This record gives sequence, structure tokens and C-alpha cells, in this order.
Amino acid sequence: MAYIITDSCIKDELCVEACPTDCIHPKKDEEKFATSTQMYIDPKECIDCGACVPACTSNAIFSSDDLPGDKQEFAEKNAAYYG
Ligand code: SF4
Repeated sequence: MAYIITDSCIKDELCVEACPTDCIHPKKDEEKFATSTQMYIDPKECIDCGACVPACTSNAIFSSDDLPGDKQEFAEKNAAYYG
């Protein structure tokens, strides 16, 4: 299981500050930040701590169990960002 960022992400990086494993990218100092429409969580590095959820002001982050039905595609999109 991993947490998942969806398309209401506004890339404010508040989740990055809350995350203990640095598994949310691209960050502002990374090449893909400008062209990415949102940030993504690396499912292999996420430890399911949930710290990013209350940090998010745009209600964009869900646990895989709570991912809304119309947002299911974002589980694959987050994983795909990390290849
Ligand atoms: Fe990072 Fe924890 Fe959120 Fe996973 S659940 S992205 S480890 S803050």
C-alpha cells in the first residue's frame, strides 16, 4: 500500500516538508517540476505514515484504501512517474 497524490495537487510542497522519507517528487529544484501537472508519491519508498495528508491544503492525497472511485487512475500515474 502507498499514499497517492491526485490531480487537485497544487505543487506547494507542504507534503514534502511533512514526509519523512523524501518520496514525493518532482520538487521545485528538480527538472520535471515545471512541466509536471502535479507531484507524485513513490510507492516503493512510501511508508504509509499518513503525515502528508493533513499537510495538504488541496485535499489531493489519499491512502490507496480511501482513493475515490473517480481517482483510481492516479495509483498507476504515481507509480508510473517512478518507472
Ligand atoms: Fe511520505 Fe508518509 Fe505521505 Fe508516504 S504517507 S508520502 S511516507 S508522508
